[in-house]
Amino acid sequence: MQDVCSILSVVFGSFTGMSALEIEPPSADGLAMRLDEMLAELAGAVTDGSPASDAARIDRIARLEKLRAATAALQATESVRFAQSQVAEQLAADVHPDAIGRGIAEQIGLACRISPTTAARRLNTARALWFELPGTYSQLVTGELSERVAEAVVSETRHLNADKRRQVDQQIKTAGIAQMGFKAATAAARKVAYEADRQGYLQRGRTERKHRRVGVRSAPDTMAVLSGYLPVEQGIACYAALRQHADSAAASGDGRTRDQIMADTLVERITGQTTAADVNIELQLLMPLDTLINPDDHSAAVIPGYGPLSSQLAREIMTDSKGRKWWRRLFTAPQGSSKGPAPIVGGDPTRRYFDGWLTQLIKLRDQTCRDPFCDAAIRHIDHITRHADGGPTSYSNGRGACARGNLVREMPGWHIKLIDCGFHGGPHKIIITTPTGHHYLSRAPDPP
Ligand SMILES: [Zn+2]
Repeated sequence: MQDVCSILSVVFGSFTGMSALEIEPPSADGLAMRLDEMLAELAGAVTDGSPASDAARIDRIARLEKLRAATAALQATESVRFAQSQVAEQLAADVHPDAIGRGIAEQIGLACRISPTTAARRLNTARALWFELPGTYSQLVTGELSERVAEAVVSETRHLNADKRRQVDQQIKTAGIAQMGFKAATAAARKVAYEADRQGYLQRGRTERKHRRVGVRSAPDTMAVLSGYLPVEQGIACYAALRQHADSAAASGDGRTRDQIMADTLVERITGQTTAADVNIELQLLMPLDTLINPDDHSAAVIPGYGPLSSQLAREIMTDSKGRKWWRRLFTAPQGSSKGPAPIVGGDPTRRYFDGWLTQLIKLRDQTCRDPFCDAAIRHIDHITRHADGGPTSYSNGRGACARGNLVREMPGWHIKLIDCGFHGGPHKIIITTPTGHHYLSRAPDPP
């Protein structure tokens, strides 16, 4: 595997170290070329310090605002046309009916440098504007309406069928939505949309309950935000229960603030622990070897999925918690080493699936899905060169992928190639090629 890696490193040498955007060759398309010229002109205007009157500056600001809307409109149109053409191609290629449409949002996401989930949402908005909200869409094209208001109209009319949606679209255009502020425009759209189909509006609320979920995201200063998207009565019941407990604890002389009691009670009730701080910990720390050797070295350790954490704080958490502890440390080579990250690699390369410690190592290396801009949690470890094509189940040939990323690579026209196994001083790198022939570089994050 290392030999293959070395050869590919030479072949793709010009790619390594470049961002995803920089490996894109210039476009030969006429409109794309004119847009490139416009971008250059805009960039030139930024550095151009020649004098202009304040009236002229306001004229420029107003037109740039219109340009934003018009750009959003054209991008929506191009996205809809791209999706139609891709579906036609997939049908012609006899793609399984369940998989039709897969990979379209992913390609838009890569092009726009946004996650596939965000791209899918944009594509849905684009379709709604294009097919069912022609009045709103035409005002976006001319720059009379902002993209934000157009998105609000899409969202407020979600429960309507195509005919009713078109009817509401006309009504709000006539009502002068383009002249309203954001809040007033949203309220106007909601009111007309509710009156057009009251039953559907109610049903939409019921359907939304299927989307209940829990999430966690990192916050600054070694904190995290745990969220629950819940039916309103359940959300309020949870909050009221915590508040009630905090009130009675505070009344009996608990020294913590009410907010602290509520937060601790939330953790205790969810985990079943008696004390919030006693969490069962599997802290996976990726830390430089220097930190282990030198107790005075305070360089950061990394918690995968969160980011850097000071090694001092990591030590405190491990020492103070009375819960069960697993502390898995993966040491990286001392800083300045020419060999780069050199984790201990286990696993049997002939195995069909990634499991055990090898999975942990790849997750530690990749931290999130390796599709550029995706940021989703790793759900699968994927073979970069497929097992069926002789790809080994190894550290270098594994790639962390989210649920949808794992499925998309099986679609026609998608190729993934290893170009740097990560053992030669640089990070692990792969090149993703999409059905339109665009290339995107995916690079493992730098170890601390
Ligand atoms: Zn992904």
